[in-house]
Amino acid sequence: MENLEEDLLKRAAKDLINSSCAIALTGAGISTESGIPDFRGPSGIWTKDPEAERRAYRSYQTFLDDPKGWWQERLATPIGLLGALEKAAPNPGHQALAELEKMGILRWVITQNVDGLHEKAGSKNVLEYHGSIFKLRCVSCGSRFDRDQFDLEELKRQNELPPYCPKCGGLIKTDGVAFGEPIPSDVAHRSLEAAWECDLMLICGTSAVVYPFASLPRTAREKRAEREKETETGLHVVERIPAVVIIEINAEPTPLTYEEISDYLIEGKTGEILPGIVDEVRRLREI
Ligand SMILES: [Zn+2]
Repeated sequence: MENLEEDLLKRAAKDLINSSCAIALTGAGISTESGIPDFRGPSGIWTKDPEAERRAYRSYQTFLDDPKGWWQERLATPIGLLGALEKAAPNPGHQALAELEKMGILRWVITQNVDGLHEKAGSKNVLEYHGSIFKLRCVSCGSRFDRDQFDLEELKRQNELPPYCPKCGGLIKTDGVAFGEPIPSDVAHRSLEAAWECDLMLICGTSAVVYPFASLPRTAREKRAEREKETETGLHVVERIPAVVIIEINAEPTPLTYEEISDYLIEGKTGEILPGIVDEVRRLREI
């Protein structure tokens, strides 16, 4: 088993070195190793508190119906999760992806996580597909703001909630994408573009079953390159072959594995496997 894993690490390192546009997709699995609970795992936030999940499903509609009430409720609940996320530190998995970017290999990280840990680890090109818990966003023009650009407590005291966008006057909500809320168009567009342009996709700690994020690996899988081939009878024909190498790093097989969206799965912790791949990339580059 160990040998097999080592072979796959080497294969991934070679594939990365041979790629000209590699991107990574990440999900909850990469952050649980930083102590951030997921939502639906055995000790997930919603597994333990189903009412919180029901509230989450209603949240966007509640915001549209009554933005003032929505903000008042937000500011009344203890900011436990936000506080925990502020203290969380990136783990070796996040750092390895930042390192691959520094090496000029990784072009984008597209993450479903709202915890900001990729940026904390030093990644510069991060697309936060489901937004960030540390930012606010105008629902009209899409501008994003740091949370502390608004004195939310003061607005609450002055009875001036909800906050409005200083650029266009639109309503401001938290950047985290709620159920039923469309993915912000800039992020959705750039992510799809990246999935279409890449020739290597590293999928880390996500089973990618939640749409529209789940369409990114499937889009990449459909991409074909044309290659000329000589048949046994000497005819030259053009064949269409998959144009993207898709590598999955997950604790267990996922629908991406079963549907053969990924070319291969390296089973285990992203915090151990990604640094192993980076070491191997370094070694190969030194040869
Ligand atoms: Zn605006």
